[in-house]
Amino acid sequence: MSALSALLARDYGSLAPRIEAGFAERPVTLRINTLKADADEVFSALQKRYSAVRVPWYAEALVLPEAEEQELSETALYREGKIYLQSLSSMLPPLVLEPKAGESVLDMTAAPGGKTCEIAALSGDKALITAYERDKIRFERLKFNLERQGVRRVTAICRDATQLEDFYRFDKILLDAPCSGSGTVTPSAPARIDGAYVERCVRLQEKLLKKALRLLKIGGTLVYSTCSVLKAENEELLRRVLPAEGARLIPVEGFAEVPRLPSAEGTLAVLPDALYEGFFVAKITK
Ligand code: SAM
Repeated sequence: MSALSALLARDYGSLAPRIEAGFAERPVTLRINTLKADADEVFSALQKRYSAVRVPWYAEALVLPEAEEQELSETALYREGKIYLQSLSSMLPPLVLEPKAGESVLDMTAAPGGKTCEIAALSGDKALITAYERDKIRFERLKFNLERQGVRRVTAICRDATQLEDFYRFDKILLDAPCSGSGTVTPSAPARIDGAYVERCVRLQEKLLKKALRLLKIGGTLVYSTCSVLKAENEELLRRVLPAEGARLIPVEGFAEVPRLPSAEGTLAVLPDALYEGFFVAKITK
């Protein structure tokens, strides 16, 4: 048994083999960038070529069962930033955040920027976004993607987000935390995840989460997400940190079609399957 199998068995018991069966290669999925393109027009163009299928919970999300990533990335739609290749699960956190025009939004760990661009698109590029990323190379990728996707109202900063000064306050914060990636395992990207690695991730997640809660306005919304299905990185961390910081969960509503793992009430843990990677999303206020 691999170290990851043992961790999954500890968290999910008899459900663990079903999770591992969902560690599959998936079809290409993408988000249509409404800052640059009309969703119906892009859908029609891609449907003819790749039998594109729409996703019930997000009009801008498409599944392309007959497409290859390489071929798509050579299209004008891709080069012009009218589409962004993104997993379905990773489109969930910005939707749960519900960014609106005029709101101050902090994206704490932003590169390569799929969710920053989605936040901008959801607000019609009218949210005031601050995007932090500490890794220099990934930060360059973030800037490239923001430019290509036509996002204007964003201040991108290459810096450790745990160093943000405590006097800042934001209406909304996305903490799409660095994690073990246990939800994104596939046959071609096998896991190198063990207990010690998960503990290191949890230590960083806890620091970032505490900082996020300090920077959130009273009554504001924080979305915490990971591409991990391990409880230590998700609900166990929240259960330990939220009460001590005077914060609480708000139920994540909707997304009935998304396959789910059992998780703390009000949170959304995505069961990996042929279409979705494993993911966790929680909505928090204080
Ligand atoms: N939200 C991104 C997106 O949708 O494209 C993916 C974020 S990825 C899960 C986590 C990112 O956090 C990595 O790019 C990593 O370099 C960055 N990171 C890790 N620790 C950080 C810190 N202390 N401050 C800022 N960024 C950090």
